[in-house]
Amino acid sequence: MVSSMGKHSQHRIEVSCCVCGTTREVRPFLVKDYTHLVCAPCARKGGRPDVPQRPGMVLVHTYDVAGYFDGFTYRIADAEERASLDRAAALARAAQRETGGRSG
Ligand SMILES: [Zn+2]
Repeated sequence: MVSSMGKHSQHRIEVSCCVCGTTREVRPFLVKDYTHLVCAPCARKGGRPDVPQRPGMVLVHTYDVAGYFDGFTYRIADAEERASLDRAAALARAAQRETGGRSG
């Protein structure tokens, strides 16, 4: 049984790198906002959580969330992010049109 209501909350949970499986104990509040964690060596090598690439979903990378780990949040893009994705797509289309000759 864990002692309840500790005055000094030293509670730690074990989390693991979702690329190599390395485990570390961290404070829960440091990682609660993230759906995936990648350890620093893996993150440096470009390691990322294995998540499906879906339209309307974004994978947000936050550096150094718990000392040894980078945090990733895989979630539905909010309205603003969706708008910027749409804008980027529209810009790409406009750029294509421009190089395709002009009318007028
Ligand atoms: Zn790792």
